Amino acid sequence: MGRIAVVTGGTRGIGKAISLMLRESGYWVVAGYGSNERTAREFSESTGIPAYRWNVGDHGACHDAVGMIEREFGPVDVLANNAGITRDTCLHKMSRDDWQDVIDTNLGSCFNMAAAVFDGMRSRRFGRIVNISSVNGQAGQFGQANYAAAKAGICGFTKALAQEGAARGVTVNTIAPGYVDTDMVRKVSPEMLDKIVARIPVGRLAEAREIARGVAFLVSDDAGFITGATLSINGGQYMN
Ligand code: NDP
Repeated sequence: MGRIAVVTGGTRGIGKAISLMLRESGYWVVAGYGSNERTAREFSESTGIPAYRWNVGDHGACHDAVGMIEREFGPVDVLANNAGITRDTCLHKMSRDDWQDVIDTNLGSCFNMAAAVFDGMRSRRFGRIVNISSVNGQAGQFGQANYAAAKAGICGFTKALAQEGAARGVTVNTIAPGYVDTDMVRKVSPEMLDKIVARIPVGRLAEAREIARGVAFLVSDDAGFITGATLSINGGQYMN
């Protein structure tokens, strides 16, 4: 068995593309999902990649899921923290739950999952963690104070953890995608989508595979000197 990779939110959208690309690259992949049983079952049946349900916002559930994966398949070498949600609304309408759910699922998840795998990676002197942020965490976005805060938090979390892992062969990096053609983006109205695409110099949405390619590179042996970095894959929408 090759190296073991865990992809949260790995059964659809960007996460599905990451799962498939890592499998193509020779990893033994395990995908996580939140609630969409049917999609997860279809994903596993069509790809042969095992999928397990746990809530990435729940610290204990992440710990238990990693324990189960390690007992079943072996130590986790690669972690892609990809699961995420939006609860878009302006601040004056944003409830405490809209805030907390987005922070827990997008940012808390990175802590929960990393905490479950980090000691093992350090003791084996190899590990790769990639956290999926967003262009909207870099640039901000109207109606996304919760999401932008969570995604910006991921960059700080990555840089701190990268320093803790560096001397032990564990790299930690962020990918900040621009708008990608997935269910998350298809939720917005066609008029809004036209406005979004008009702001992307490349003139289109990204394909999920284009984000997955970045993950596959950052977890490879060739990327061992890249840590604490943010890789923007956004069609030129935001340049920093
Ligand atoms: P999707 O909405 O298509 O898929 C989200 C995935 O996350 C699903 O597999 C979902 O599981 C899982 N998930 C959601 N909540 C939880 C939870 N509490 N516990 C476990 N799993 C959960 O999202 P995308 O593929 O579009 O986005 C993937 C990541 O990329 C997210 O972090 C997103 O913020 C980020 N991103 C996306 C962009 C885009 O344009 N699409 C742009 C920039 C960043 P289930 O199937 O069970 O619901």
